[in-house]
Amino acid sequence: MTNYDVDLFVIGAGSGGVRAARMAAGLGIRVAIAEQTHLGGTCVNVGCVPKKLFVYASHFHEDFRAAQGFGWSLTQPQFNWQQLLAQKDREIGRLQGVYQGLLDNSGVQVITGQARLLDAHTVAVGEQQFRCERILIASGAQPSISDIPGKELIATSNEMFALSQLPERILIVGGGYIAVEFAGIMHGLGVKTSLCHRGNQLLRGFDDDIRDFVAQEMIKKGIAIHFNTQIERIEKTASGLLAYTDQDQPLAADLILYATGRKPNTQDLGLEALGVEMTESGAIKIDQYYQTNIDSVYALGDVANRVNLTPVATAEAMAFVNHCYTGQSTPVDYDNIPTAVFSQPNIGTVGLTEAQARNRYTDIDIYKSVFTPMKHTLSGLGEKTLMKMVVRRSNDKVLGVHMVGADAGEIMQGIAVAIRAGATKAIFDSTIGIHPTAAEEFVTMRKPVQA
Ligand code: NDP
Repeated sequence: MTNYDVDLFVIGAGSGGVRAARMAAGLGIRVAIAEQTHLGGTCVNVGCVPKKLFVYASHFHEDFRAAQGFGWSLTQPQFNWQQLLAQKDREIGRLQGVYQGLLDNSGVQVITGQARLLDAHTVAVGEQQFRCERILIASGAQPSISDIPGKELIATSNEMFALSQLPERILIVGGGYIAVEFAGIMHGLGVKTSLCHRGNQLLRGFDDDIRDFVAQEMIKKGIAIHFNTQIERIEKTASGLLAYTDQDQPLAADLILYATGRKPNTQDLGLEALGVEMTESGAIKIDQYYQTNIDSVYALGDVANRVNLTPVATAEAMAFVNHCYTGQSTPVDYDNIPTAVFSQPNIGTVGLTEAQARNRYTDIDIYKSVFTPMKHTLSGLGEKTLMKMVVRRSNDKVLGVHMVGADAGEIMQGIAVAIRAGATKAIFDSTIGIHPTAAEEFVTMRKPVQA
């Protein structure tokens, strides 16, 4: 053991890597972590955190309008993009400092640079080499763009967090989390926003009612959505960019954002030479305790491409550390993971969609409610909320809960606890509502809709 420089070498200081490093170091393990850019990874630097700050910024647009319905009169509010960027950068800088402090205080050695595996127990960062008992790869993922002519003219989500100025018109390509969230952000910040998606519904994997409903709400707000449309090439013109599609008219914009998925960061790590096995999607292949086919090499988070969410990566990190260093082997349970899309309005969801439930069982009841939330009775915005529950009739178990509406993510966290505890519909029904809230609708939906 003592001939190793460190017990655990972590590659990548994002959500998963930092959690694993800190937890292991807290157990007295000698840990080093290498990061080639900024501490905090995608979530802190070009993902969850700045995205949510942008969502807040963009929502004021509607809030100012809504205020008038409540008796406020406002002079024309002005928005300053540079000021938002500076504020966002200040907060990200603060969080990077927090990460540095957490690592330092837990005794983790932080190394700046690109790490590469030389063999199953050796990592190189520049000129330095480290002999390590175990190596954990938590190098994340990056935007993936198909090879179309004009590819060099487009932006990815990475660039969206540092645009020198806001465009007048944006075309967003894709129908997943990032496309839908940025459509709301850009529209709210006053950018003429179009979204172009190759399918006929946004957000594959979500409940179909949610998918339809959120698209309708986005369109109502003024976002143009082009379904069943594939971009074939992009050209620069005197007045901006033109995206030629498989439909009739090209789509004009000043900025084109591609949000068409992400690919695991596996390149230049020395994995091929070492013979680390990959999945078909190009992720590192691991078992339930994040071990690869090479005994001393582990991987977790987006680079392993299971469920690519920050809290899942941190849960994986804890399961990995417990398994390797405490003797408590409890694998992560990937069922009933709640998630939110910070679209406008928000989506919150946990458990099975209606289609998944009907695929699995024959006795499914659906409870559904579409209503105008109280705020919008006066706001003049016309925004509606959808709530839906998927219940198995024979045992009354609530299998899935889905929502589109303000604070859906906030509401769904508590509901996810109930679902994981195995709550029945009767438990929901006997829970007293909090009045007046939108959330109380989840405990007052009495009659299933027609199957
Ligand atoms: P997603 O996988 O969510 O969506 C990708 C979208 O791009 C899909 O609509 C897909 O269409 C479309 N697409 C894929 N390839 C092409 C192509 N060649 N041409 C045209 N369209 C294409 O990826 P995102 O980039 O939006 O996000 C990546 C991941 O990051 C998410 O899955 C999520 O795990 C995570 N994330 C989580 C957030 C949150 O928790 N709020 C926020 C942002 C990201 P189709 O459906 O037809 O395949």
